[in-house]
Formats: sequence, C-alpha cells, structure tokens
Amino acid sequence: MNSPENPLGAPLLLNEFEWKNSFASLPGGFYTKLTPTPLPNPYLVGVSRRAAELIRLNPSELSSDTFVSIFSGNVMPSGSEPLAAVYSGHQFGVWAGQLGDGRAILLGEALAPSEPSGTLELQLKGAGKTPYSRMGDGRAVLRSSIREFLCSEAMAGLGIPTSRALCIVGSDMRVLREMPETSAVVTRMAPSFVRFGSFEHWFYNDKPAELKQLADYVLEKNYPELSESANPYQALLREITLRTAELVAQWQAVGFMHGVLNTDNMSVLGQTLDYGPFGFMEAYDPAHICNHTDQQGRYSYRMQPRIGEWNCYALGQAMVSLIGSVEETQEALSVYTPSFESKMAALWNAKLGLRSTELGDSELVESLLTILARSRVDFSLFFRRLSSLKLDNPSLDSAVRDLFLDRSSFDTWAINYRQRLQRESSVDAERKVAMDKVNPNYVLRNYLAQVAIEKAQEKDFSEIEKLLKLLENPFDDHPDYQSYAELPPDWAADIEVSCSS
Ligand code: AMP
Ligand code: MG
Repeated sequence: MNSPENPLGAPLLLNEFEWKNSFASLPGGFYTKLTPTPLPNPYLVGVSRRAAELIRLNPSELSSDTFVSIFSGNVMPSGSEPLAAVYSGHQFGVWAGQLGDGRAILLGEALAPSEPSGTLELQLKGAGKTPYSRMGDGRAVLRSSIREFLCSEAMAGLGIPTSRALCIVGSDMRVLREMPETSAVVTRMAPSFVRFGSFEHWFYNDKPAELKQLADYVLEKNYPELSESANPYQALLREITLRTAELVAQWQAVGFMHGVLNTDNMSVLGQTLDYGPFGFMEAYDPAHICNHTDQQGRYSYRMQPRIGEWNCYALGQAMVSLIGSVEETQEALSVYTPSFESKMAALWNAKLGLRSTELGDSELVESLLTILARSRVDFSLFFRRLSSLKLDNPSLDSAVRDLFLDRSSFDTWAINYRQRLQRESSVDAERKVAMDKVNPNYVLRNYLAQVAIEKAQEKDFSEIEKLLKLLENPFDDHPDYQSYAELPPDWAADIEVSCSS
C-alpha cells in the first residue's frame, strides 16, 4: 500500500515485480516472442540509481547476482513475456523496408508510479539475434553501450525527454566490428518503444487493420486524453508532431546532435531514442556532422529541425487513411513549424538570461550564432561563462571574450546584449542563477565518454560512475571536477563515431 510518506510505495525486489506485457497482447504479427541469447560470464559495468528509482527497484538489488542474471538476459524474470518487435523505416531518406528489434528484446513493463502511463517498458539491447537481425549478430559493443547509458541519463539530467538506461552488463565475449570488441547489454526503459517506423510498417505493407490496432494501442496506453477528441488519430499525429518539434528545439539548445534521425529511431512519445553516433556541439559550426557515416550531412546540427519535420511527414503519410483526409493530416502536421519556432525562441532567450521578449531578439540570437561560428567557440562553455557577465563592467568580460579568436566581434555583440538586458532591468546575480539553470556546466563530450570507455575496457568502471554523477546534475558546479567542464583536449579532435555499434 502507498502511504503519504512514501507515495511511490515500498521498494521492490526483482522477484516481487508485477510484470505487465501490454505489447505482447497485440496480435502475433507485431512481434516474435523469444528469449535472449545467454551472455557468458556477465558482470555489472554501471547502474543508474535514478533510473532504478523510477521502477521502485530496491537499491539492495542493484549489487545482487539476480540483477546481473536478469539484465544480462541470462534469466527471465517470472511474469515477463520477452519479445522482439517488428517495425520498418526510412533510413537516410530512403525507404528501407522491414527492420525491427534486431538486437533488443523487450522484457515487459514494470510499474512506474511517477510515469503518466504508470509503467515503463524494460528492454535489453544487445541480447542476441532475433528474426529481425538481418546481417547483424544481435549484440552491442561495450563502447556504444556506455555511450547510450551515459547519454540517456545525461539527457534526463538536462530535462530533455529521453528513454532511460538502468544498467550495463558486460562480458568478455568478443564481437567483430571494425576490430574485435567486448560486448555488453544495456537495459533501456521507456513508456513505449513504438517508433514512427512501427506505423510505417503497416502502412507500406498495406495492412490497415494492424495500422489501426497500433494507433489504438498507442492512444489507449500513452495518450488516453486524446481518445475523446473528435478525430483521435488526427489529435495523435498533432501531439506527436508537437512533441517532436519541441524535442528537436531542446536538442538544438544544448547542441545535441542525434546522428541517425531515421524514422525507425523516432519515438512516438517525442523522446530521444536509439543513441548511436550522437554528439554535443563543441566548436560551434552549424554544419557540424557528428556521425562519420553521414557523409552528406543529412543529420547535421542545422538540418535536425527540418529532418524532425520530414520524419513527422513520413508518419503523417502512414496515418492519412486513419485520419480521413490529406487536409486533416496536413493540418495536424502544420503545428511543427510554429511549435519549433516558439520553443526555440523561448530556449534561446532563457539561455541568454532574458525574461521578456522583444521584436529584435531573433536578430540578437542570429548575430551571436554567426560570431560563435566564425570563431568556432565552444558552445557549452560560451553560454555557461556568459552568465558571469556584469552589466556595468565590460572590463570583466575576459572569461567569455577570450573564447573568441575575433574578440572584437564579441565586444560588438555584447554592446547590443547589454542594452537588451538593461531594457528589462536585468540584475546580474539573478540572471546568473537563472542562466546557470539552463546552460549546463557538464555535457557528455565525446572525449569524456572515450576516457570512460577505455578505462572500462581495462575493467575500471569508476569513470563511468563519476561521469554519471556529474551528468545527472549537469547544472551544478563541482570545483573538484572543473576540468570536465573545460575545453576538450587536442586529441579529442581525432575521435570519430559512426553507425558501427
Ligand atoms: P540503428 O541504426 O542502430 O538504429 O539500427 C538499425 C537497425 O539495425 C535496427 O533494426 C537494429 O535492430 C538493427 N541492428 C543494428 N545493429 C545490429 C546488430 N549488431 N545485430 C542485429 N541487428 C542490428
Ligand atoms: Mg535504431
């Protein structure tokens, strides 16, 4: 029983979990039921206590053998009905046909009282081959599992919608990528792992009954408030479009690049999903491409907003027959641009510590982005340091000014910025507090992840734990860890991340 002191109820041991399996109650064509392939000699690499709290997992369980057995995929918890889901998708703008969970296995749903849906699905990524593995081996390497684990929890720390990561379980078993690498299983959690590509799957296979079943399932489970709408399917598309637009705006505001925004990697909940060759902007360059495989730059920083919309159109295409007409579908999709623009403008203003809005604000932002690009200024450091600016004393600007090759470009911009702050009677101390709550001190720079990965490959997992702590509270200052907030070392420029994972 829940008590007022403990509204979430008492923490549970894994054998006390009440598994729900709503996805498994859909018809068999939506998935294949199967169990994970055992992972030899598994060991715990990292765990997120915050993620564990969401499913009320007893902290004592996190160091137990049962925990490692279950989240390596070696033992199935009783009551779970493991499965791999089918979906399809557009990859790099081209219809790719059938895909599916090629290496992810859904255990089922655990109760999660703080979630609107009341549950979180738990999925083991890297748990072995499924009928959807195509040429893949069903595994994930330790390197990419650490990146997904840390970035999921970092995004949650930033307050950006995301799937969560409960833990990483490693194994010395080697799998072949460009070279042999150790493998791992990362356990992800989300209210649903349904993707845009899940809808496209039934549309392109000309299965309207299944398409409707999927839409009804998503509406009932994750959007019950829309069921009362005059046209629930149109309302669903509108809400997904709006959430996607706002999600992309939040990515832009922290300089996050997803790297592979294929429709099969787009969550119908508007959460960040499927972490691969992502990156956080360092030296600001709007054309920056974080994914080495993406030679055309389709998923570059500046393209993300347009690609988010393109993906919503792909989803809309799949939903036209459900919604009833092209016009009603377009009406739902039309919320993308205004939602993105208003969210983006609000986020830029917050980053600049502006409390009000003025007509010229977008020019102030544009002129800033132009000079940041010209001097290739570190995106996160700039905004973090900008909060220390003193309205009446430009001679103290050096911490932020010194980030520019062309310092006079900053001086010119700062004159306009100061005037804008003065017009709303901005107070230095108050502005700093507000800005430091939205401009992170710590982001998961590639080199930070790389250091943690290299140590983990030597079985030292302490860096993962350290990074997790910093990234869970990215807006705090930790004087002992100031170097984690500074410019990346020179060797970081040579790190390449690609789709290989
Ligand atoms: P991604 O680019 O990681 O989103 O993956 C695209 C598709 O390839 C998804 O259907 C994955 O399940 C599948 N996939 C990726 N890597 C593997 C692998 N090692 N084994 C099996 N399937 C994989
Ligand atoms: Mg994917």
